Amino acid sequence: MSNPFLNAMRQLVRANDVRKFSDEFILLMMQPQREIRAAIPVKMDNGATKVFESYRVQYNNFRGPYKGGIRYHEDTNIGEVKALAFWMALKCAVVDVPMGGGKGGVTVDPKTLSKAELEKLSRGWIRAFSDVIGPNKDVPAPDVNTNSEIIDWMVDEYSMITGDKSGAVITGKSLNKGGSEGRVQATGLGGFYVFDVLRERLNLPKVCAVAIQGFGNVGSFSAGLWAKAGHRIIAVSDHKGGVFNKNGLDIEKLIKHRDATGYVFGFEGADGVTNKELLALDCDVLMPAALENQITEENVADVKAKVVFEMANGPTTPEADEALYVRGVSVVPDILANAGGVTVSTFEWEQNLKREHWSEKEVAERLKAIMRREALNVFNKSNELKTDLRRAAFVIALERIQAEIKN
Ligand code: NAD
Repeated sequence: MSNPFLNAMRQLVRANDVRKFSDEFILLMMQPQREIRAAIPVKMDNGATKVFESYRVQYNNFRGPYKGGIRYHEDTNIGEVKALAFWMALKCAVVDVPMGGGKGGVTVDPKTLSKAELEKLSRGWIRAFSDVIGPNKDVPAPDVNTNSEIIDWMVDEYSMITGDKSGAVITGKSLNKGGSEGRVQATGLGGFYVFDVLRERLNLPKVCAVAIQGFGNVGSFSAGLWAKAGHRIIAVSDHKGGVFNKNGLDIEKLIKHRDATGYVFGFEGADGVTNKELLALDCDVLMPAALENQITEENVADVKAKVVFEMANGPTTPEADEALYVRGVSVVPDILANAGGVTVSTFEWEQNLKREHWSEKEVAERLKAIMRREALNVFNKSNELKTDLRRAAFVIALERIQAEIKN
């Protein structure tokens, strides 16, 4: 399994090849300012105490408070969190929000915990890191397997410890706890705005056949938005496997099926497809929306899509990236494609600090303006530098970060 942090560093070096930055700056970008580990003891329902390994990586705060989600996953480790924190620093710069990069995690399979255990773990995470987070220091958010219910426990715990009532310490809260309108669907919606402005420029047809890996928050909202715009979602999958119908899946019905059964598997009117087969489907757009390291040296030759649209973080390894580039397959990189989430998270933080509440329409309009503007910026930069979209996005982000470093 490739190491996500090494992959991230190789992406950095690759970008530095097309627009040479100083060695000092690249070295500075190769290490996080802080990596913090904590052991969280949780009294389980059976009375035994279990200790969970947890993390916060504060990559850098040159452009503003550290910002990034908290992931609960059995494979999460400090290396993965460090890579995700690095990408957050770049992502915030690509969409030009006033935030730095951070990420957190717990090595846990949350499906094995009861609700009471999950709440204790989430409150424990805040107790472990309450000294290093804060509205103007470090602002976490949800990520894989963390949702608004978990975030609500977290903001409550933080407020009990510190007395802070603004809610601006963490984003992704439910609406009645200070969350923003539009946050739940923000990552999908932001991705759709990017897609919409780049579709013709990437020589894609008006109606695209789209295959989506992952059907959680990001994958399912993206599927709904792309389908609503008239595209055909020919396949989706989750960790159990996927479903395929070349004429297009009914996404609303599929979401109901998933909510009822827990999986997309067994959806009526569709054939089963493995995750491996999904990545190799003949389609216009392949959208990884699950985890990192999915398109690799081993399977990149099988990818038939015209465009890879990265809604997950780090789904394409550098070897696969290079192979796709050589073959003329455009990759819309994660740090642009999925930046809608952090953009609306930043709106939530801003609303909390100003004690404002923006309407869903206002949130969507602000998001649209940013995503369209920055997608075009990345596209134009790739033409100017005669390079791929990932390197162009990296160069834009690195230039913006460098401009904020004050010695
Ligand atoms: P989620 O937990 O809601 O959903 C994850 C989905 O991936 C689930 O459907 C799960 O079954 C599936 N999955 C897990 N392992 C898989 C595998 N091996 N093969 C196929 N499917 C698998 O998480 P999410 O919030 O939708 O996040 C998905 C990706 O998007 C992650 O890379 C995350 O970092 C990134 N992301 C999320 C947000 C956000 O706002 N939620 C923002 C930016 C980026």
